[in-house]
Amino acid sequence: MIIILKKNAEEKKVEEFIENWKKRGFGIHLSKGENTTIVGLLGDTSSLDANAICANEVVDVVQRVSAPYKMASRKFHPEDTIVSVGTDQPGVKGSTFGKKSIGIIAGPCSVETEEQVVEIAKAVKKAGARFLRGGAFKPRTSPYSFQGLGKKGLDFLVTAKKETGLPIVTELMDIRQLKYFDDVDLIQIGARNMQNFDLLKEMGKVKKPILLKRGMSATVKELLMSAEYIMASGNENVILCERGIRTFDNYTRNCMDISIIPYLKKESHLPIIIDPSHASGLRWMVPTLAKAAVAAGADGLIIEVHNNPEKALCDGEQSLRPEEFADLMKVLPKYAALDGRTC
Ligand code: PEP
Ligand code: MN
Repeated sequence: MIIILKKNAEEKKVEEFIENWKKRGFGIHLSKGENTTIVGLLGDTSSLDANAICANEVVDVVQRVSAPYKMASRKFHPEDTIVSVGTDQPGVKGSTFGKKSIGIIAGPCSVETEEQVVEIAKAVKKAGARFLRGGAFKPRTSPYSFQGLGKKGLDFLVTAKKETGLPIVTELMDIRQLKYFDDVDLIQIGARNMQNFDLLKEMGKVKKPILLKRGMSATVKELLMSAEYIMASGNENVILCERGIRTFDNYTRNCMDISIIPYLKKESHLPIIIDPSHASGLRWMVPTLAKAAVAAGADGLIIEVHNNPEKALCDGEQSLRPEEFADLMKVLPKYAALDGRTC
């Protein structure tokens, strides 16, 4: 349930009003915009009488929110959420996702060697990427495939971060890996873990932003409910990521659901980014999908780039070469400018 307060409501009366709900056992989500203050009530509101609440002198309007997600809903939080990544560290050039600024994340699917990740980091930075990606813990379909370098891979990523100043983005598969993530700027929860609810609750306790990828057969509602798990556990810095879903057709690796961008912009305040690499699985298609995503309003992109894709240990066939990434970065600002944004 959301309660919109009167513009001229007295501060002290508002405090009393909120305290009263807390005493009654409800969680409170407060959103103070330029013109309105919205009190989101969390908990079982089914037996509350909206008319009785309206009778309070500080209340303007009461609305029931039928969607099962509350904190992720735009009704609870009308303004766009802007998520900052790596902005609080000396020597790191952090940046934001949301509103006017399109965040471009690029790097290899997997960290393979220190030289590989440092070389790619330098190349993507030169081309204009703002964040470096690279998997150290890899979720692979086959237990016999390369599983990532683990902690050593994270060390190499940190070296690349030191050399370039790019904040780093990498996947956490299991809460036992968190102890190695001190220098990671954005924690990725991959498609396969989107509904690992215990892991999501743990991500709610972490003081770092979370990149939550859509499960390959997850509905948009399920994606938002997973974001809700993280937010309800205490972490509101969530970035959503569409990485393609499974359909009946398999001419691409997955199917990029572009409609999710306008839908989520309407339904949620959280930034939404697109992963055209996993969505298509095809290098030649990645630039087209990236441009389409930016034109449709995506808040960012996560793109796989490899300096030797033929020899890549994972996802080489969908990785851009550094020069192809640089060519894409030259044209992306044109698409961003369609609605007055920059990247
Ligand atoms: C990845 O980003 O390399 C990855 C494994 O992504 P997803 O979880 O979307 O498959
Ligand atoms: Mn990959």
